[in-house]
Amino acid sequence: MTKAQLTVLAGPTAVGKGTVVTALTKRYPTLKVSVSATTRDPRPGELNGVHYYFVSPQDFDAMIERGDMLEWALVHGNNKYGTPRGPVDEALNAGTPVLLEIDLAGARQVRAKRPDAQFIFLSPPSWEELERRLIGRGTEGAEEQARRLATARVELDAASEFDHVVINDDVERAVDELARLIGLE
Ligand code: 5GP
Repeated sequence: MTKAQLTVLAGPTAVGKGTVVTALTKRYPTLKVSVSATTRDPRPGELNGVHYYFVSPQDFDAMIERGDMLEWALVHGNNKYGTPRGPVDEALNAGTPVLLEIDLAGARQVRAKRPDAQFIFLSPPSWEELERRLIGRGTEGAEEQARRLATARVELDAASEFDHVVINDDVERAVDELARLIGLE
């Protein structure tokens, strides 16, 4: 059996990665979305093992030391996020396509380790729309919003490093395009 495709989806804060990925998996339940480990606290409604594996900084560092992380990064300067390697390899070996929704630094690490992966950048229709979405969702305070927007500027400049750029102007349209690129249709 040929190995299934590994796809990396990155894009700036508040571009709607979560919404797009949820819609994609609803339509294509066979796609496996990797569950990341993070040192950040759960938000209301987030479940351990579903949205993230919420781990202590000590446990996170132990995973890195054991070589359990395919990639990891300090995101927005305060918390660590990483992709546990085992479940990704298991799914790919079983012929299941896998999607990683990670930040730019993580995407670059995967590019170095898995050059056969496909890299997709989810982009906002405009900078103004990105600001509107970040402020509108109201999950971050002013200081965190400013930090995330600063990261977003850097991330947007890196779009040209990716194999494909998908513009999230409309969720269903973006899902159509992603499904085509991942080969789900
Ligand atoms: P949030 O705290 O809003 O859930 O996620 C913040 C950022 O962390 C998002 O941009 C997301 O792409 C990134 N992220 C989530 N999981 C991972 C991961 O496993 N590795 C890396 N490098 N970034 C991640």
